Amino acid sequence: MKHDDETKITVSAVYRLLIASFFTSAAFAIFFNVYPSAHIIDSIIPSLDALMLFIVLIYYRYNPHTDINKIIIFYVVFFILTFSPSTIYYVVMSWRSEWRFIDVYPPISGLIMAVIILGIIMLPKQYKRYIMLMWASIAIPIICYLLSHPEELQTPRGYELIGTFGPASLLLYLVFPYQKSIRRHINKVTGDLRRYEQEAGRDYLTDIYNRRGLSFWLEQLKQDDKIGVLLIDVDHFKQINDRYGHSIGDRVLVEIASRLRTIYFEKHTIARWGGEEFAVILLNPKANTLPFIGSMFQHTLGTLPYKSVGKVTASVGISTIEHHDDFLKLIEQADKALYTAKNNGRNQSIMYSDKLTQPYPKAS
Ligand code: GH3
Ligand code: MG
Ligand code: MG
Repeated sequence: MKHDDETKITVSAVYRLLIASFFTSAAFAIFFNVYPSAHIIDSIIPSLDALMLFIVLIYYRYNPHTDINKIIIFYVVFFILTFSPSTIYYVVMSWRSEWRFIDVYPPISGLIMAVIILGIIMLPKQYKRYIMLMWASIAIPIICYLLSHPEELQTPRGYELIGTFGPASLLLYLVFPYQKSIRRHINKVTGDLRRYEQEAGRDYLTDIYNRRGLSFWLEQLKQDDKIGVLLIDVDHFKQINDRYGHSIGDRVLVEIASRLRTIYFEKHTIARWGGEEFAVILLNPKANTLPFIGSMFQHTLGTLPYKSVGKVTASVGISTIEHHDDFLKLIEQADKALYTAKNNGRNQSIMYSDKLTQPYPKAS
């Protein structure tokens, strides 16, 4: 899965988990403050939970770039620190015969299980062990207590508690593989999607960008980036097809693309603009280097012979440098310059200027 996508899903999951937990804690807080139990801890803990969750939600709302992992760890640790100690507190106090556990333990087992299952479903794999730790720190003391106090176990509440933290916890083991297979499926689908996206941006024959890939590349540029464009058109390519056949013509195009790849200088990209035309986009080039770069491409393509067909030349049209939003204008300029290069006898590179107005000649 794309890293960004996964983070977005996690962020939305955590946000929902925080909201759900806040409302549940708030409901408990209101209930135990309106109808106080014998134990002050019953009203303090949910109130504290609701308050902390509210603070985290507000903080997260105004600091959306906070590392989501920190929020998750805070959430889990926070719940362990409230649910676990209160559970352990009741277990220990009941063990010391102060009171019966089943009478005093607040009705939060459903809530605990819901939070744990939500955590398993929503959070990425690496948080599973924290969730399981949270479950174990609560379930184990309760189960141990009830098993060693059969008179409490054999009551409706006792059976309910042991059922929830014992057999019903097996649900967690059912959720695990289910969630794992969903995640595997999502990973596969998003992986496929990414591959198709990449393939859709590449030219099938030459494996360099096509127009779609190029426009995606342009979209990634920064606001103030400027570009220059070279349009490269193979000279008399139709004759190569006519003389040697279409598949040899294809091979020449592949070889042209691999020669274009070998040219290395800072920040540029190459694309197949269509047919036997290629585009080179130069990122933030210096104005006076454009003619030099144009003839470098022209010579790299036209100097050494090609397999099966021998010498092949190319003409290059060079645009001026503009903001990258003006891409189509630059393509138009480079096209005009290219026409002039063709008109002037081909195998040359020409820089655009306002004076270039000659019509494009028909290929001979
Ligand atoms: P010019 O010097 O004026 O550019 O002449 P040209 O023959 O290169 O120009 P023209 O536009 O007349 O011909 C381009 C040819 O490129 C025609 C088309 O069949 C061929 N072509 C376009 N795409 C492909 C391709 O993918 N494979 C092959 N083999 N040929 C292609
Ligand atoms: Mg052409
Ligand atoms: Mg051509």
